[in-house]
Parts: sequence; C-alpha cells; structure tokens
Amino acid sequence: MDIEAPGAAARLSDVRSNIARVCKPARRAPEDVTLIAVSKTKGPEAILPLIAAGQRVFGENRVQEAEAKWPDLRAAHPDIELHLIGQLQSNKAEEAVALFDYIHSLDRPSLLTALARAMDKAGRRVPCFVQVNIGDEAQKGGCPIVELPGFLEKVRAADIPLAGLMCIPPADTEAAPFFALLAKLAADHGLEGLSMGMSGDYETAVMLGATHVRVGTALFGARE
Ligand SMILES: *Cc1c(COP(=O)(O)O)cnc(C)c1O
Repeated sequence: MDIEAPGAAARLSDVRSNIARVCKPARRAPEDVTLIAVSKTKGPEAILPLIAAGQRVFGENRVQEAEAKWPDLRAAHPDIELHLIGQLQSNKAEEAVALFDYIHSLDRPSLLTALARAMDKAGRRVPCFVQVNIGDEAQKGGCPIVELPGFLEKVRAADIPLAGLMCIPPADTEAAPFFALLAKLAADHGLEGLSMGMSGDYETAVMLGATHVRVGTALFGARE
C-alpha cells in the first residue's frame, strides 16, 4: 500500500489538473466538476491511497460488490460519497437506496417504481440521474431519447430527486457529438447535472458541460 500511494496521488493530481486545464477555455470553474473515482474491481489496497490523497467521491457499478467493500471503508471515512454508476436491477433497489448517495442509471419505469418504493420505505430520497441511450444502441441500457420527456415527467411525479442526465456514448466513435446532445437534452428539460466522460474522454466531456465525470482506469490503472 505504501508503494502504491505516491502513484495514486500523482494520478489523482494529473486528472484534477487536466480537468482544471480544460475548464479555463470552457469558462467553467473546476469546483463545478465532480470527479467520481470509479473503483469497480479494485480492493481497499488500491482505494485507500486515493482516500489518503484526498479523494472522497467514488463510483461502483455493482450493488453486491459495493456492499462487500464500502461499509468498512466508510466507517473509517464517514465523509465519503458513493455513486452507483452501473445498471441496476429492480430487485436490488432497496440495497442500492440504503448504500448509495447517488444513482446514475435510472432508465425505465419498472426501476422507477422499485426505487420510489424503496425510498419511501427507507425514508431517504436518493438523487438519481436518468441514463439516456444516447447512441440508440439496442444492447445498451438507457431511456430512448424519444421516451425521455414522458419518463422525466414520471420521475418528477414520483418525487425522486432528479440530479440530471447520464450517458455512455457508443464505443469506438468520437464521443463529443453525443456529449453535446446530452447537454442539449438536459438544457431542454431544465436539468443542470450531466454525468458524462470516462478515462478516455473526460476532458472533452468537461468542455461540453459535464458536471460529473466517471474516471476509473486513469486513476487506478487498468482493470483485470
Ligand atoms: C467502468 C465505468 C466507468 C469508468 O471507465 P474508465 O474507462 O475505466 O474510466 C465509467 N462509467 C461507467 C458506467 C462504467 O461502468
């Protein structure tokens, strides 16, 4: 862990300074961009050095993995904020509401119903990003663009705090047009939060208005 620590601190400061650098021409304040350190598949030995370097916002893509990993880490660092960034099954809604501070993958009416019920039961409202299937890909999660206005109405009616929109653009394509489209959709619906950008394209995402970037590999190194 001691050997890892300087590497983690250096990677964190690189990513932070890259964000600050692109904020300038975009006339944005770096504090308006939340860096979510995506720690999926990584254990405490990789996560603790980042916590030591000052990182407090983390993202996981599976409820079960997060349940196994984070309660202990959080007991030692109560100011940690945990984001669920991966697809969520309706039958895991209660666990997700209990564990996470934000959910980025609200994308369909059945999940909306399950989350609303779980939030009522827990007496805790967890802000959610609505994930948009921005590239209209059959195999991907996300609300279809044509269904977005109706779905957002349902989210608002269910009294789920709406954090904004989230997307994962198609792989192996220039991401910028998809980020721009998500930003336009958010503006059209009066939403400020934009969860977009990963290790390969977070700078582009910040230029185009991302308020939350989800960065794994650039902070932790490659996953197995
Ligand atoms: C894994 C993952 C990321 C981080 O990807 P990197 O390329 O490692 O930065 C971001 N968003 C989601 C939804 C992910 O599943």
